[in-house]
Amino acid sequence: MRITCKRCGQTTDALAQPPIPTALGSQIQKSTCQACWREWLRTQVILINEHRLNLMDPEARKVLEGQMRSFLDLASDHPE
Ligand SMILES: [Zn+2]
Repeated sequence: MRITCKRCGQTTDALAQPPIPTALGSQIQKSTCQACWREWLRTQVILINEHRLNLMDPEARKVLEGQMRSFLDLASDHPE
């Protein structure tokens, strides 16, 4: 599958599979190139450390998801 990345605008191969097993994961697969996804994974680690996010905490996961959406230029509300 070829996709145009919302973050960097490149048309390239999509991620082999949705990176997370949710509707948001399929949205990411359709909207984010592999390079930007890897970049997000690195950024995520930094954010988790910086803000001491506990991913067992739903509130922390919501914060991180918001950060991810803005990092990847994903729409906030309407997953396709
Ligand atoms: Zn990209």
